[in-house]
Amino acid sequence: MAELITEVGLEPQYFESAPGRANVFTRIEGTDPSADALLVHGHLDVVPALADDWSVDPFAGEVKDGMIWGRGAVDMKDMDAMMLSVMRHMARTGDRAKRDIVFGFFADEEAGMSYGSKWITQNHPELFDGVTDALSEVGGYSANIGGQRAYLLQTAEKGLMWLNLIAKGEAGHGSGLHENNAVTRLSRAMANIGEYTCPLS
Ligand SMILES: [Zn+2]
Repeated sequence: MAELITEVGLEPQYFESAPGRANVFTRIEGTDPSADALLVHGHLDVVPALADDWSVDPFAGEVKDGMIWGRGAVDMKDMDAMMLSVMRHMARTGDRAKRDIVFGFFADEEAGMSYGSKWITQNHPELFDGVTDALSEVGGYSANIGGQRAYLLQTAEKGLMWLNLIAKGEAGHGSGLHENNAVTRLSRAMANIGEYTCPLS
């Protein structure tokens, strides 16, 4: 990423939070120094891909059926590529926005952000000087729902719910059978939770 940015004469800043975990930033100054800056950011990491699970090489970027197939093609190399091509276009043509645009590529989004946005905001907050807004992945695309084109509006993010299950029963001895067994009841409760289907609202 840094090479492709440097190739067109821009000067990317390169921050390694750990060996091989790189965050790349470039600020393109706007024409109005009093305008608020905009952050456009993407992440460069992907979740793991086992080649055996795939019908194509997950990291080859194969073009098939008019689409690019590969791990991260949607999440989120597509936007990373668009960001890169906009930066390169701006560098080549001299086109400038009114506001500063900060282009940020993070190392680590998929697994906790410790090497990516969390590390950058803790160690290099100056990268965001003047930034009031940010754009990144997800949103803006349509889905086909029941033959109708629908534009998605996210109102919440799924979260975690930790449960403590406590079952009570009778104490016993391995030599004797009894019906009131806490372990059996606990197993049944866990199986019920695992098989539960939440209603779509
Ligand atoms: Zn993502």
